[in-house]
Amino acid sequence: MTEDTSREVLFAQNETEEDNVLNLSLRPQKLDEFIGQPDLVENLKIAIEAAKRRGEPLEHLLLSGPQGLGKTTLAYIMSQEMGTKVTATSGPAIERAGDLIGILTNLSDGDILFIDEIHRLSKVVEEFIYPAMEQFQIDFVIDKGPYAKTIKFNLKRFTLVGATTRSGLLTSPLRARFGLNFHLNFYEAADLVTILHRSAGLLGVEIDEAGALEIAKRARGTPRIANRLLRRVRDYAQVKANGKITKEVAEAALNAQRIDTLGLDEIDRRVLTIILKQYSGGPVGLEALAATMNEEQDTLVDVVEPYLLKAGLLRRTARGREATALAAEHLGLAPKRLI
Ligand code: ADP
Repeated sequence: MTEDTSREVLFAQNETEEDNVLNLSLRPQKLDEFIGQPDLVENLKIAIEAAKRRGEPLEHLLLSGPQGLGKTTLAYIMSQEMGTKVTATSGPAIERAGDLIGILTNLSDGDILFIDEIHRLSKVVEEFIYPAMEQFQIDFVIDKGPYAKTIKFNLKRFTLVGATTRSGLLTSPLRARFGLNFHLNFYEAADLVTILHRSAGLLGVEIDEAGALEIAKRARGTPRIANRLLRRVRDYAQVKANGKITKEVAEAALNAQRIDTLGLDEIDRRVLTIILKQYSGGPVGLEALAATMNEEQDTLVDVVEPYLLKAGLLRRTARGREATALAAEHLGLAPKRLI
């Protein structure tokens, strides 16, 4: 299998239409259906209940964490729980303040405005959003030069839900305007098993405990990947093994997809192999690494690195990235300097 196909299995950017439909149909609708992240769920329940009792909209909420952990899902769940609508957009999609005016003026009381990749808002748009978040007001400037006039426009009391994979890139004035700020962590295998059983039920696929665990272990702590792997394994099970997903079927299907026992794909293995072989285990700067791999730095930081760091295969130091002894062992390679 080629590298690109393998990447498609894991990378959100390359989601197919089918994956999108699948994501939508498997998305939990209520907070009680949202599996894992117990602290976040508990805090959110309290915030929702309190807002409802006061008859007020929810406070603005910032959700940070790697892709596929449920940030978008939570924004939709919040609107369901509050009985309001969601308008979804993303930082890069709002190019000019004018784009935002259109969106903001269409919101009703309590509506959720979901902005994905909020760290990528332009500076102009970001400054425009401050009074909207704080006083539910925006300033229009009409005319130019000596005739310029500022008109204040009152907005409905909406809730901004911002999602980011890079909370470190958020400016502090923007961060300070969120009343609630939560971080999503990678999921434990046990939570992913529960998610997989639920998804299998919705898809009408038979799966046993060991089969679910095998997929969970290779899903990089990420529900979106777990669901996507489930679909690949389901296909395999239907064609090669009378439809039921067992440990053996999951292993065979995922090995065929070149997803290894830690859930690493070709790109992950390439990052680690390059650091180990070409840079003697590291440290190597991000820029040099991205150039050697012919990848975008952002892709490495947002999509590849988080799980490698969490799994203890990669270390980030002041001087650059290092592959760990665990990575060398997993890949059957020794860093050059240790030879
Ligand atoms: P993000 O916005 O963080 O990239 P999404 O909210 O799009 O992630 O989640 C991706 C998919 O993973 C969803 O469509 C949903 O099917 C599944 N998912 C995410 N979190 C959970 C969860 N806690 N419980 C069940 N399914 C989940």
